[in-house]
Amino acid sequence: MDVRIYKQQLLEELYEPYKKCMLCPLATQGRTQVVFGEGDPDAKLMLIGEAPGADEDAQGRPFVGRSGKLLTKTLEKIGITRESVFITNIVKCRPPDNRKPTPIESKTCKSILLLRQIKIIRPRIICTLGASSLEGLLEKPVFITKMRGTEISYESSIIIPAYHPAYVLRNPAAFDDFYNDIHLAYEKSCQM
Ligand code: URA
Repeated sequence: MDVRIYKQQLLEELYEPYKKCMLCPLATQGRTQVVFGEGDPDAKLMLIGEAPGADEDAQGRPFVGRSGKLLTKTLEKIGITRESVFITNIVKCRPPDNRKPTPIESKTCKSILLLRQIKIIRPRIICTLGASSLEGLLEKPVFITKMRGTEISYESSIIIPAYHPAYVLRNPAAFDDFYNDIHLAYEKSCQM
């Protein structure tokens, strides 16, 4: 069987029991649906953000609001389509008022969904977007301004942290770093 079809099947089997997940407080705090993620199930590059916002919660797709538009445009500028990478978040349900996910929400969602997605997809490079997803993966506080653009070994992948696109929208001067870090992540994902 084609590896993409096989991995897609594994992802669908993974998602099925969690379509109405009740395992963390976000289940009862206004989420419309669980936003699992999308893209190539055999992607060499995986992009991980913080959590869905209002647009993502309404559409059931990650990064489709203002931050998502900046991310999509940046990928296109590098020559990457959204379909050729896998895009998801550390937490799959929208936190109320777009607050940061709590450590318990991140930990729960990471263990039941994100880590299993990583195991199935086996990306060469994981590009974390913002401090929250990097902290969630590493389970320790991070200084994103110091760590962005570096390479961190993680299981059988390498993490290359980048700023969150929402931060870049508020601080346009950070765009070059944002672009360069995603570009580096892409180049590395093609090389290895
Ligand atoms: N911000 C995120 O971190 N993830 C999304 O999916 C949308 C906005």
